[in-house]
Amino acid sequence: HPSRRIRSILDGGASGWEIVYAARDLQAKGERVTMLTIGEHENPTPAPILDAMDASARAGRTGYSSVMGSLGLREAIAARASRRAGAPVAPDEVVVAAGGQAALFQALCAVIDPGDAVVAIDPLYTTYPGTIRAAGGIPRIVPARAEDGFQPDLAALDIACAGARALLVNSPNNPTGAVYSAASIEGLAELARRHDLWLISDEVYDGMAWDQPHLSPRALPGMAERTVIIGSLSKSHAMTGSRIGWAAAPAEIAALIVDLALNANYGLPRFIQDAGEWALREGDAIEDDLRAAFRARRDLARAALSQRPGLRLSPPQGGMYVMPDIRATGLDARTFAERLLEEERIAVMPGESFGDAASGHVRIALTVTEPELADALDRLAGFADRLA
Ligand code: PLP
Repeated sequence: HPSRRIRSILDGGASGWEIVYAARDLQAKGERVTMLTIGEHENPTPAPILDAMDASARAGRTGYSSVMGSLGLREAIAARASRRAGAPVAPDEVVVAAGGQAALFQALCAVIDPGDAVVAIDPLYTTYPGTIRAAGGIPRIVPARAEDGFQPDLAALDIACAGARALLVNSPNNPTGAVYSAASIEGLAELARRHDLWLISDEVYDGMAWDQPHLSPRALPGMAERTVIIGSLSKSHAMTGSRIGWAAAPAEIAALIVDLALNANYGLPRFIQDAGEWALREGDAIEDDLRAAFRARRDLARAALSQRPGLRLSPPQGGMYVMPDIRATGLDARTFAERLLEEERIAVMPGESFGDAASGHVRIALTVTEPELADALDRLAGFADRLA
């Protein structure tokens, strides 16, 4: 029979993709739909990055590459990770992977054994439970509360962490838009030390913390040796399709990730890595522009969705999303999303796609231009208010 482990990947996993498919069907029929569903930039990868890719490929860099990632790219990642984490990261602690997603899977494989428990916080990025299962682990999901602004519930996590092997956290957070406070990060690090856990810190939105600096647990005492940072160029440089991510891990774990990669994907295309290296070394202006756009959209969303009878918005502090509570409308999130698509031609994700703690909420990706976003949020809030 086929693999039980792989068949278990989607066990009980909510999907919510129906809305995306329904919206695409409408678009295919020529209808105008505002897509606020997937965390993908409205524009393709900026031209200078494509130029670097093209130049590299045409210079003949089209063969196999180093499985760990090219030294130039790993040096550029290490410099960035050191700067962002506020703690030194060496190139031999960096492994390049096909996106943050692959880095996450490979890092989990490198730190757990089959049957080990991995603790994660709900609401969560949709792939987490499946990725933990694919790596052979058992997800232990701990809810965070809307009343706490979706900061981690350290007391509940303490209980769940007993006997677990790893703790997976994500700040700035997808889907909630929360940025973990220094107290939260310190509390998570303390749990990892006390329960002797690997801490996998998904920091793919590390450049997008608007109100307080992003803090990596790797910078805290005793944490460099047990933290794996997951990073990516998908969001920071609009390179989702290039699939460039990385794990920054203690060298021993990095070496295991390479062993796994050697037997899985055998490295990334060299010209993609060269484009990534260019983006990290020369592309600060590109990242700054994208960051400014998302910050302005967050400000716009906060203004448009606050003090509305139909909605309640916990403070969106970072990342590419906001997640208002729509319970005052009397609708569950799926029905809300279906009717919003039907009546206003706006597509958003029902909260339950991201875990039970997000039910009664919808996730809005801030991935359209400001004028389109302003119009859509105005109509969304009006729709909610009419129901409330
Ligand atoms: N982690 C989080 C929290 C995300 O939101 C995403 C993408 O949306 C990823 C990881 C994976 O991104 P990628 O594999 O494109 O780097």
